[in-house]
Amino acid sequence: MRIDILTLFPQMFQGPFNESIFRRAVDRGLVRVNIHNMREYTHDRHHTVDDYSYGGGTGMVMKVEPLFEAVESIKSRAYPEDRDVPVILLTPQGRLFSQKIARELSQQEYLLLICGRYEGVDDRIKEHLVTDEISIGDYVLSGGELPAMVVTDAVVRMIPGVLGSMESVLEDSHATGLLEYPQYTRPEVYRGWSVPEVLLSGNHARIANWRREQSIMRTLERRPDLLESAELNKTERQLLERLRKSH
Ligand code: SAM
Repeated sequence: MRIDILTLFPQMFQGPFNESIFRRAVDRGLVRVNIHNMREYTHDRHHTVDDYSYGGGTGMVMKVEPLFEAVESIKSRAYPEDRDVPVILLTPQGRLFSQKIARELSQQEYLLLICGRYEGVDDRIKEHLVTDEISIGDYVLSGGELPAMVVTDAVVRMIPGVLGSMESVLEDSHATGLLEYPQYTRPEVYRGWSVPEVLLSGNHARIANWRREQSIMRTLERRPDLLESAELNKTERQLLERLRKSH
């Protein structure tokens, strides 16, 4: 997969994209990330990327020309002509990012992400340039760089081969509409607090059952809204009913 990111602050990406799982994915050729500085697509001496808002107001707005030029230039240099590459604007006004959207995006061969700054972008960018708008939550950040990192991280870990086992991706919270079960590691007892006995039993069927139950209980306690669309079989639905009654 190739991911292009347009930003005014390329340096911000250095740390997160140079560590751990992400770094390994890049080293193994599973993903390529190119960070582009929007100022390189300006033509004036001061490399102006923002201007006052028509109609008045205090904040500045990102100009339309550098963004169009940047996207068109990347498209013509980097993507096959017949490919409809998603051009995604990070914005608090976009559709709310989720594991489902991460999975959907991880199936793309190319992604182009645009990071806004200031009061946001000239709206003609939304109308005529981008194909999707994504928000990472109902709050406002100073720029689209952190949201672009969040989206990229969630997408990259879903590319087959990036994590040691696809199983862990499938069991992660939100993968099946439930939160993940509790996890423990050594020591078996710490300050008198023991690991649940079932996890030491070696009985894989019992462990799988316990984990599924814990997932359902945890989701009911913390995020009952998720249960509306979770994939549950008949026994699990019955368990959920019993848990609801005893709550
Ligand atoms: N005035 C804009 C509004 O109310 O919609 C917010 C602008 S915000 C200060 C600057 C930039 O940060 C946005 O253009 C966007 O790229 C990014 N941003 C801020 N919050 C975000 C969020 N929750 N999700 C995605 N991007 C966000």
